[in-house]
Amino acid sequence: MQFAAFAARAAEMEAEPGDLATMDLVATLLEDADAELPIVVRFLQGRVYPAWDSTTLDVGPALLHEAIARAAGQNVDADDVEATLAEVGEIGAVAATYDFGGQRGLGAFASGERDALTVSAVDDRLREIATITGDGSERRRLDTLFGLFNRSSADEAKFLARLVLGEMRIGVGAGTVRDAIARAFLDDGSGDVESTAAETDGDRGESAEHDEAETPAVTAPADATVAAVERALQVSNDYGMVAGVARDEGRAGLEAIGLEVGRPVQAMLAQTGTATEAIDAWGAAAVETKFDGARVQVHYDGASTALFSRNMDDVTEPLPEVVEFVERELDRPAVLDGEVVAVDESGAPLPFQEVLRRFRRKYDVEQMRDEVRVELRAFDCLHADGEDLLDAPLTARHDRLESLLGGTDAVSKLIVADDPETVATVEEAALEAGHEGIMLKDPTSTYDPGKRGQNWLKRKPDVETLDLVVTGAEWGEGRRANCLGTFLVSARVDDSTAAEAGAYATLGKVATGITDERLESLTERLRPHIDHEDGQTVSIEPAVVFEVGYEEIQQSPTYQSGYALRFPRFVEVREDKRPADADTIERVERLQ
Ligand code: ATP
Repeated sequence: MQFAAFAARAAEMEAEPGDLATMDLVATLLEDADAELPIVVRFLQGRVYPAWDSTTLDVGPALLHEAIARAAGQNVDADDVEATLAEVGEIGAVAATYDFGGQRGLGAFASGERDALTVSAVDDRLREIATITGDGSERRRLDTLFGLFNRSSADEAKFLARLVLGEMRIGVGAGTVRDAIARAFLDDGSGDVESTAAETDGDRGESAEHDEAETPAVTAPADATVAAVERALQVSNDYGMVAGVARDEGRAGLEAIGLEVGRPVQAMLAQTGTATEAIDAWGAAAVETKFDGARVQVHYDGASTALFSRNMDDVTEPLPEVVEFVERELDRPAVLDGEVVAVDESGAPLPFQEVLRRFRRKYDVEQMRDEVRVELRAFDCLHADGEDLLDAPLTARHDRLESLLGGTDAVSKLIVADDPETVATVEEAALEAGHEGIMLKDPTSTYDPGKRGQNWLKRKPDVETLDLVVTGAEWGEGRRANCLGTFLVSARVDDSTAAEAGAYATLGKVATGITDERLESLTERLRPHIDHEDGQTVSIEPAVVFEVGYEEIQQSPTYQSGYALRFPRFVEVREDKRPADADTIERVERLQ
């Protein structure tokens, strides 16, 4: 498929206000995509790699602006691109204002004709960019990007720029793609008119009725076909592959997609709750320690180990002692869910911030290993010895875990209690031992990847903090002039983790709780995400999540959100969270 054809379809989707009509456009595109179906599905979501693969292009806004400027010609530089961006507000629209291709004479395209890009060629080049490392890598990334823009029309450039930054802004969320896969390959279109995409995406804010009025013939795919696609997605986190299997092998093919050792699944999450609620709902509750560490999913294939974070990022390298432990103790392939905790000499837990110091380290791993000792605490078993266990009850999964790692300190102790007193005793002991609190789980529940449902409840007595996205900052003054000194923090507006062009509501400015040294490292962490600057003030693309403490949440006219944090203070960077995992404005409203 020509990239120009993909861009034209994406433009149609962007212009279409109705959720069902958009889903229909996506379904038609998928039907037409032929061999490039997996790439098209990923591109629609602003992705080059499947969701489980944490490879990044490593192209920030600054490099993208430079590539666009170079392709735009002699009279344009990165500052011009940024000035246009400040006016227009969005990089795709900026890219579409230039007439590219004038630089063809500089090398690759001697013919003088625009050398049409295919979807596969764009994918190949972008993947090439992701593999560039070492000396001069910045320049080589720039050259490759320039080559792509130089071959682009205005429409192509618009979507190419957005794709590079991972945000397509065409109103196509995860739910729309899921429904479109079902519609294109499993469903005959005779379903009911309820829109599941409209309910789950929430990424456009328009109602489904809107397009039903215009195009009453478009219906949502039947629930059963959507469920089949959903299930395959949960297990694989690969929309491209799932679309291909749905087309080539139908429902039976989707049902046969299982867990694969080495390919992470989304972590099951918890809501807050009490022992009485749990016991009333389930009759009895499985209680265990809530470890204060960072989530880790262990994949052992019988020979080697891969570790993944809560966001499915590969964290194998920074945690060698967990790898060594797994390879020493496991004697068969397995996928385990658990927490990495920092411990002191005596094995007692240290605060969670200590673990995060280990997570982003790729280089001085050995030195960090001496400074912060970490250990695995496993609480679930999703796969053992070739058998998927997602649909097995919790207690059976925990038994498997015991059979794999029993006798070590790494297995959580699971107690099934049918009275709140027993739960209270377990909770007291957990807090006494320095843990964060307890988890209450439905003993009969299955493992639901990515779900924050009613089957896992967390209890922790600590003062609440919020995980907020950094959306802006101000440069410091005096000796702090080279550092960002104040950070604008915002909650997510949309509750859907599928939201791609997320909206954020500002809650306050964080300036306290940060040492000079820390300010320097935060500045370096945020610098690649600086969007544009206006004097002291910079706007920052949503990428980094801060854990923020506060005294109270006040109603306030200062911010559009209607709320402001009183005495906000920086606690930590949540390296294990992405903007989509940040707290929502709905949660802020509830806490107020
Ligand atoms: P929090 O900041 O409270 O950890 P979160 O948003 O990171 O919140 P939640 O789903 O709200 O995650 O809380 C569950 C988290 O608690 C899990 O993601 C996991 O990292 C951690 N955890 C610690 N011990 C357990 C346990 N025994 N079972 C399940 N999760 C546990």
